[in-house]
Amino acid sequence: MLRIAIQAKGRLNEECLALLADAGIVMSGGNRKLIAHAKGFPMDVLYLRDDDIPQAVAMGVADIGIVGLNEVAEKGEDVDVAMKLGFGACRISLAVPRDADYNGLEWFNNRRIATSYPRILRRFIDENNIKAEIHEIAGSVEVAPAVGMADAIFDIVSSGGTLIQNGLVEVEQVFASEAVLVANKNLDEEKLGEIDKLKFRFSSILDSRGMKYVLMNIPQDRIAAAVALLPGMKSPTLMPLSEEGWYSMHVVIPQDELWEKIEKLKGLGAEDILVLALENIIR
Ligand code: ATP
Ligand code: MG
Repeated sequence: MLRIAIQAKGRLNEECLALLADAGIVMSGGNRKLIAHAKGFPMDVLYLRDDDIPQAVAMGVADIGIVGLNEVAEKGEDVDVAMKLGFGACRISLAVPRDADYNGLEWFNNRRIATSYPRILRRFIDENNIKAEIHEIAGSVEVAPAVGMADAIFDIVSSGGTLIQNGLVEVEQVFASEAVLVANKNLDEEKLGEIDKLKFRFSSILDSRGMKYVLMNIPQDRIAAAVALLPGMKSPTLMPLSEEGWYSMHVVIPQDELWEKIEKLKGLGAEDILVLALENIIR
């Protein structure tokens, strides 16, 4: 039976649980326990701090895990990155005080940079021949320059609001991260088979996220023009209405194109357009 490690609490926890739930996998007893048995898939769930997930998976304490790519890169544990999961997006960036005379990467020479990601930062400054001092701190990295602990920081940024609040500006984006599924490198065939099933469920969910199922009534002589507008999955589904010369057309449209396409379809003569949520795309 597979054992998956996920973050016990924090930014990735809810989206991990939502992804598992969409995949038909639910746990009883909440996350107060260290380990829970899943229903809907033969699997145990281990709730850990995100920092410990790469090591737990590398050691085989868990077979697989869901964790930020940033933690995987920082910890340097030998695990397989099996799949990107499309949530928990963030970047790790260098930021300097707003009033610094920043003039490019050389600015960091002989400066002290506070970070919780010393390994990723070391790699970056070595590759760029910067001689900076790395000052490792566990939390509240963004206050380090204001209290005189460092000249600059290397930290996680998502919206940038925290930087602004602390009088800092992002000057170099170094590492892009999102949540990933990681796997131990020495699993037997049976477990690899189970992981393939899980990946299949996850990819059907990820494919359907951001997509809408759209139904509309359309005159027969407008179908060709509508089809040209909407490549759909293979081709749109068409069903004749009882009213002569009219069809019901069903298509899948990416959310970010939805309104633009709907306006065009209306312009072509489509009527009674229904937009429905799409749960899964099974290919
Ligand atoms: P833990 O208690 O599990 O060690 P943590 O405090 O280290 O948790 P969180 O702040 O919950 O970590 O962040 C978990 C992950 O969420 C990060 O490693 C990163 O991959 C992702 N993430 C996405 N956006 C952000 C953000 N704005 N700040 C921090 N992490 C983010
Ligand atoms: Mg952590």
